[in-house]
Amino acid sequence: MTTTIENKTDVYSRPNARFGDDGTLEIRASAVGNCRRALWYEATGHQVTNPRDDDSLTMLEAGNALEPVVLRAMQRAGWDITPTDRDNPRMVSLRLGPTLAVSGHVDAAGVAPIFGLEPSIVEVKTRGPEAYKKWRTLGAERSHPESVWQAAFYTYGAFEEARDLVIATLDTGNRVWDYEVIPARRVERAFDQACARLGELAAHHLVNGPDPYVLPERDFTADDWQCKRCPFLNACLPGSAAVEEAEDEPAVDAGLVTDDEAQAALREYEQAQEMLKAIEEDKAWALGMLRTWLKQQGKEKARLEGREKTRTVGKVKSTRYNVNHKRLNALLDPETRATIVTENVSEYLRVS
Ligand code: SF4
Repeated sequence: MTTTIENKTDVYSRPNARFGDDGTLEIRASAVGNCRRALWYEATGHQVTNPRDDDSLTMLEAGNALEPVVLRAMQRAGWDITPTDRDNPRMVSLRLGPTLAVSGHVDAAGVAPIFGLEPSIVEVKTRGPEAYKKWRTLGAERSHPESVWQAAFYTYGAFEEARDLVIATLDTGNRVWDYEVIPARRVERAFDQACARLGELAAHHLVNGPDPYVLPERDFTADDWQCKRCPFLNACLPGSAAVEEAEDEPAVDAGLVTDDEAQAALREYEQAQEMLKAIEEDKAWALGMLRTWLKQQGKEKARLEGREKTRTVGKVKSTRYNVNHKRLNALLDPETRATIVTENVSEYLRVS
């Protein structure tokens, strides 16, 4: 394994995968978790069949633009941050054998406040509120393992050894940020996992050469978000985008609920919301009066005649138990955490 560090301005717009002049397959570090078939499509020059739409490009650019904001927030919180010069970014390239290299630009290096001794790689991510909550609760190795693989490559590329690394994340909805430290021994493991994953692609390359028509296996299926956002979706899974639309059609065709009926339901919902709001305000006012009255009595509990029966008015104390997920994530490996913190997905309809 050899490493080189260089400065290149095209680093932000490089393809996820390409063949270098000497035939080496170069993978962008931010793409090490991508579908290997998609990487192959890109490296071998297949035509993009499903380009990103404008909204998704805007989201991507907004995420990139917010990275310096997170780094400045870390500095204000006492971190000693050395950000990459975005006009002249520092590129780390790691050679992993005769035909494979991984390269990318490091967001920053940073030393934690007070107890930090040596610089760590800081990988900055921006996430929506749900993804942010998932990351904080489960830890990056479970919620977004590709971000840990990416930063592990930077760590080895920059320091030639495993070190603690830092994933700093901004919640773009609530504009709050936090960080997670991945200990060095788990960085080493993430690096091994990512190397094994890319090693299979390197083996495919060794056996088949850069043949655009001999494709690696698919890593995902049409239901996965990776496929739904894949720029080669129609080449890889022709018709799957159309199938998805077709699945949605029967409900509309069946005419079970017309637009007018939905509109009327929304108005009903709005009216009910207004009534509920008024009731909640009345309830809060009444409880406030009762709280004041109980305090005046100098009691924890008292009896009062209600409309239909005598009621007890009393203070109830409840205790909430919080789990410090950041500490839990730092102490335990992802497998142990998976036995402690489990996921339950529920679905509800939101009208906003
Ligand atoms: S459509 Fe899915 S399986 Fe096919 S290349 Fe893209 S991500 Fe991979």
